[in-house]
Amino acid sequence: MTPKPCAHLKALHPVVPSAKGCEDCLRLGTQWVHLRLCMTCGHVGCCNDSPMKHATAHFHATAHPIIRSLKPGEAWGWCYLDEIFYDPLPVPVTVR
Ligand SMILES: [Zn+2]
Ligand SMILES: [Zn+2]
Ligand SMILES: [Zn+2]
Repeated sequence: MTPKPCAHLKALHPVVPSAKGCEDCLRLGTQWVHLRLCMTCGHVGCCNDSPMKHATAHFHATAHPIIRSLKPGEAWGWCYLDEIFYDPLPVPVTVR
């Protein structure tokens, strides 16, 4: 079920993922579990099950509010600011 979109969701445009994996883990040589895509800038980060939690770190660093899952078969999204879970997130991802 997709709830009523928040203002952040309405402001989104399709983004292109920045990397094939968590871009911060790729730089640091650390491991990730699942990937999250920032829907503001295309930053690919790792989930909160991953040791470095780069997706949440990216939100704290940039205040970009909405991420979505990049796990194959998953299309959910999450607004950190409104704490709204969208499944599926009604914004397409451009996969290169
Ligand atoms: Zn929001
Ligand atoms: Zn990471
Ligand atoms: Zn971002």
